Amino acid sequence: MSDKFIYMDYNAATPADSEVVQAMLPYFSEKFGNAASKHHFGNAASAAIDHSRKQISELIHCSPKDIVFTSGATESNNLALKGVVEYYYKENINIVTTEIEHSSVLDVCKSLNASGVTVKYVKPDEYGIVRPEDVEKAIDGNTILVSVMTANNEIGTIQPIPEIGQICKFKNVLFHTDAVQAFGKIPVDVNEYNIDLMSISAHKIYGPKGIGALYINSSKKIRLAEQINGGGHEQGFRSGTLNTPGIVGFGKAAEIASSRMYSDFQKEIVQRDILIENFLNRISFTYLNGSKEKRLPNNVNISFEGVESGVLLSNLKNIALSTGSACSSATLQPSHVLKAIGKSESQVKSAIRFGIGRETTNEDINYVINKVTEVVNKLRN
Ligand code: PMP
Repeated sequence: MSDKFIYMDYNAATPADSEVVQAMLPYFSEKFGNAASKHHFGNAASAAIDHSRKQISELIHCSPKDIVFTSGATESNNLALKGVVEYYYKENINIVTTEIEHSSVLDVCKSLNASGVTVKYVKPDEYGIVRPEDVEKAIDGNTILVSVMTANNEIGTIQPIPEIGQICKFKNVLFHTDAVQAFGKIPVDVNEYNIDLMSISAHKIYGPKGIGALYINSSKKIRLAEQINGGGHEQGFRSGTLNTPGIVGFGKAAEIASSRMYSDFQKEIVQRDILIENFLNRISFTYLNGSKEKRLPNNVNISFEGVESGVLLSNLKNIALSTGSACSSATLQPSHVLKAIGKSESQVKSAIRFGIGRETTNEDINYVINKVTEVVNKLRN
């Protein structure tokens, strides 16, 4: 067992399901046509893409024509925010977001701000929950867009999206949500929640990397300034030859997520709570980051006070874990999410994210509990 490598970083990436890979394979070779070509080969690719749009739309309860394919959620977030601001630009406009968004939202906000757009950042509470009334207070007559993530990638907190959607509808402001971590894991209904724009990605739901989508509520006739100019693909929202194998894989992954969301949820939530209870009860000075109740089924984030997370990870070589988001760990910045929810410096420095997935066994959970307990105690002595 100790020689086994355990993957526990499912918030960063998931392995492509074998059915997903099988579905993709023909579109690399015998069904290689360009979906924009008006002949047999192109039509076959185009039909497969239409089918994928349908599979994805069924998971979020929208029309297939509301799905615009992109290279991933980073691009979707760029398209949503820059697209709205540039298309609807007027003097003095502002947008409202939160302090705990993913870097692909926060960095876009920074660049919009540098070009003169006011960005208002709502602070979450100590559990990482964004209060709808704070979003409401931040909206004024010049607000054109609100962007609040559905669930946080570091601490797994699920936001009150239906309430925030209702406020945006009432105030007549566009509402975007980065749903990368929630999509396929918990139910998301774009109509019921009044979502206008939503970013999603395949590689968090056992699909391939490099393919994502932006849901755009077509009934509202939203327009966006195109960020990648070219042949006018995807209804003029995003040019570029469509990635047929990736799109087919994304559709299949969404279909599988639809059919097993409930059973995955039930399994992961039990494993999640066993991890949390054991760490908190068996190791002193450990703290759960984020909310216990409003939490993704597959996310645990714990600070083991006094043990620096980098040191802990290097002593847990056969367990794949993360100190926060994979994107921010590339730059080794202390987590802006943990700072925003008021964690002390020592708690920020000692935080570890555990991501649970379909393949995580109870044996893995027990192994990780025992190993982490042993290593934390050893490093503290
Ligand atoms: N938003 C969130 C919340 C994420 O977790 C990620 C992936 N880490 C992204 C956006 C970016 O997604 P992609 O990797 O598809 O660009």
